[in-house]
Formats: sequence, C-alpha cells, structure tokens
Amino acid sequence: MAASAIDTDVLVVGAGSAGATAAAQIAKAGRSVVLVDRRPEGSTGARWVNGVPGWMFEAAGVSPPSGDELFKTGGDFVMAPFGATRQVVHRSGGMFHVDMRQFVARQLETARRHGAEFLRAVADTFRVEEGAVTVDGRLPDGGSAKWRARLVVDASGLAAVVRRSVAAQPDWAERTGGADRCMAAQYQYRVADRDRLAAFLARYGARPGDDLAIPGVAGGFSTLTLFTRPDLECVGMLTGSIPHLGTESGQQLVRRFERSAPWLGERLFGGAGAIPVRRPLSHLVSPRIALIGDAACQVFGAHGSGVGMGMIAAATLADNVANEPDPGAATGLSGYERSFRRAHGGVLAAADALRRFSQRSPASLAGRALDAGLIDEETFGAALLQRAIPLSLSGSLRLGRRGLAVPRLAAQFGPAVVRALLAERMGGWSTGATIDRVVGRHRANGDAPAVNDPFADESRID
Ligand SMILES: Cc1cc2nc3c(=O)[nH]c(=O)nc-3n(C[C@H](O)[C@H](O)[C@H](O)COP(=O)(O)OP(=O)(O)OC[C@H]3O[C@@H](n4cnc5c(N)ncnc54)[C@H](O)[C@@H]3O)c2cc1C
Repeated sequence: MAASAIDTDVLVVGAGSAGATAAAQIAKAGRSVVLVDRRPEGSTGARWVNGVPGWMFEAAGVSPPSGDELFKTGGDFVMAPFGATRQVVHRSGGMFHVDMRQFVARQLETARRHGAEFLRAVADTFRVEEGAVTVDGRLPDGGSAKWRARLVVDASGLAAVVRRSVAAQPDWAERTGGADRCMAAQYQYRVADRDRLAAFLARYGARPGDDLAIPGVAGGFSTLTLFTRPDLECVGMLTGSIPHLGTESGQQLVRRFERSAPWLGERLFGGAGAIPVRRPLSHLVSPRIALIGDAACQVFGAHGSGVGMGMIAAATLADNVANEPDPGAATGLSGYERSFRRAHGGVLAAADALRRFSQRSPASLAGRALDAGLIDEETFGAALLQRAIPLSLSGSLRLGRRGLAVPRLAAQFGPAVVRALLAERMGGWSTGATIDRVVGRHRANGDAPAVNDPFADESRID
C-alpha cells in the first residue's frame, strides 16, 4: 500500500550544518519543518574540525561555539608556502576551529526545540506540482515515506539530490566536476612529543597555540595545515588537493604525513570528503525549491570553506521565506537568491577566480610571490576570513612597486588579481556567461603535481 503523504510547510533534505541551521531558523519562525537525512542522527554533516570566521556566526544569527564545541580560537595564523623562505602572519584572530559533530548536534537540538522533526530517511524523488512538492523517500526499515511540502530545501551537500533530480534550471543537472572538487581530510590527534612539534612549528615562525598552513604540498591548490592549542596536547591536521590533476587526495596525503611526523600520537576523530570549490550556481531557487550549502556550491573556493557561507545562506533563506504567507512562494525565494548574491556573490566569485589561478599554477608560485612581497598580511587576512580583497590606495601602490622588482612573477599574478577584482565587482549581480568568462576556465597544467612532504626531514630535529 502506498504511504500517505505527510504535509509540512518545509522539508529540508540533509541535516548537515546548512540544513540543520535552516531547519532551526525556519522552525523558530513558527513554520512546520521536517528535516530528513540518510544518515542516523549523530552522524550527519561534517564530522571533523572546521575553521569558521567569527563574523559568519554573527551574520547567520547563530551564537558562536564554546565549550567542547570549540577546539580553539586565538593564536596567530601563519602561512608558509612550501619552498618559501618567508611567512605571512594573520595576527588579529577572528577564526573559530569548530568541532562540527557538536555544532550540527546543537543546530539539530535548536531545530527540535522549535518544533522541527528529524527523521532518518533517503529522499529520492521530487515532483513539483501546483502549490507543493511531493517527495518520496525510503526509511531505514525498508518502508517508504511521502511528504507534501510547500518548500523543499536542498541541503544534501555535494550529492545535491533535489536540484539534480528536479533539474529546473540550466546548470542544476550537473555534477560538480572533478576539476572543481577539492578532496580534503581532517583529523585530530594526541601529540606524542610536544617538544618536537614545537620545534617543527618554530621552523616556520609559529608557536604553540598558532595555526600553520603550508600550501603547495600537492600542486598550486593544496595545503597541509596544523591547528594547535598552547598546551600542544592535541593537534589538528587538515590536508586538501585536487586529485583530478593526478595528485594524491587529502586522505592519501594524511596517510603519508602521518608516517613522516614522529610527534603525531593517537588519532582521535576526523574524516575526509569532497568539497565543491567553484562559485555558487547561477540559480539558487526554482519554483518551490531552494538550494543552500554545498548543494548550491556556496563555498569560498580559495580555501574550500563552506560552513560559514552555508550557515549564512540558511539564515538568509529563513529571513526571506519563513514569514511569507506561503514559504514556497516566488517572492520569498527570489528575495533569498537576490540577498545572498548581492551580499556574497562577489566575494565568492573572486575566491573562485583565485582558486582557478592557484590550481593551474606550479606549487612554487605562492612561495615566490610571498618572498617577493606580493602577498601581504592585509590580503592574506582578508582571504582567511572570507572577506573582500582589500584595495587601499597605499596598499595597491606598495604592491605595484614590489611587482616592478619581479616583472615576470608580476605578469603571472597581475591578470589573476585583475580577474578576481572584476569578479568581485560583478559577482553580486551577474550570472551566466559573462561572469564565467571573467572568473576564468581551467587549463590543464601538463604534469600531475608532485607531492612535497614538509615532515620529510623531521627525523633530523632533536
Ligand atoms: C576534510 C574537510 C575539511 C573541511 N574544512 C573546512 C573548514 O575548515 N572550514 C569550512 O568552512 N569548511 C570546510 N570544509 C567544507 C565543509 O565541511 C562543507 O562545506 C560543509 O560541511 C557543507 O555543509 P552542508 O550542510 O552543505 O553539506 P553536508 O555537510 O555534506 O551535509 C549534507 C547532508 O545531506 C545528507 N544527504 C545526502 N543525500 C541525501 C538524501 N538523498 N536524503 C537525505 N539526506 C541526504 C548527507 O547524509 C549529509 O548529512 C571541509 C570539508 C572537508 C571534507
């Protein structure tokens, strides 16, 4: 016998950070919300530690993490590209390293407190009809489920099950291609030898309590990043790369680095996954459907960060639809798309332009640019915190003067910076072919990027 449909105002597909935040904020406004995830409660969304700028919690109306949910905040953030002789340091904080298992649990708990229902189910088919979407799903016991929702929110991450199934907009059926996917891994460890870790940090000008990013470990768009607390009891390790170019994935890099870092102790928790690193899709809505989070590619591509933007998208959606007489009506949905694009489309388009540039550049380029002074604290800090590229007159003149001293390097960097600046100006309103041309295409760079292991000579430290 076919299951009878359960009516709800809003069905959110995916209980990761974006979906759980949307469910919490829409339910708080008094709407009926059902939140479904294919995974059981306690295992949905990211299961590792993510860096999220503090301003993004405020922008999303979510209180910042504290207690066990917060691995750390504070300390300097040091970036030392592989092969560079210098570092650039962000000293003014503003970054929270969040245990996502607990963050998602907090959002789910808030959603439930406001009346939302969580259900473990796979959402499979979506039929957009007059006034509602009918969704068919499968339950863990083999049974079926059916919902009729006035609005369906696709928060299913890279799977993007709703948008790819409905395909109501020109680019919705697409899978995010391999060249636009960063494969990342993040694990937390006990530290087996604090003195040796401190000595490793010191080699890069970092101290216990600082974060240390070493880009260029597997191609121009790749990183090995360590997060530490002053006591050095635990350390977080993040790796990421674009394996489509022929190099090792974040998970493979982790295995390699674990073998060569003698101070790493027992693995505590973490995981690996794919991140869409292209700018958001041109259309975030279609009749009765809204996309948020990784499903919409709302990711700061230059370092593959999607938690903050997904959370802000969830709040922007809630602000626009929750108090409308019909939460799935076109007015609220187009308000969401417009508000998100105006506020963040430019920054995300610029981040995508810079990501494409670094991806097709040799791993050594960032180091050479840093050594030549083309990357400074101001631009690094803005990129880290997912802010617009700062363009003060004095800063531009300073960079221009430094560029004159390294004309060949400046000729590589200059066009990418101009592209990013143009993308930033246009991304708030332009979609489609024009912005595609500005952000730039991928060009294969020939050979697969080699892997560089910053821990390779660790055994020499005493
Ligand atoms: C190792 C790693 C490190 C990262 N580090 C950072 C970082 O430091 N900072 C940062 O901001 N970002 C980081 N990211 C990216 C960040 O984790 C993602 O952008 C974020 O988790 C996306 O959230 P989301 O809610 O959109 O999707 P997800 O977290 O992917 O959640 C989607 C949910 O949808 C569910 N689902 C899928 N299909 C269905 C279906 N058919 N029916 C029901 N449910 C379904 C899934 O089970 C999942 O729970 C990192 C990613 C990785 C892999």
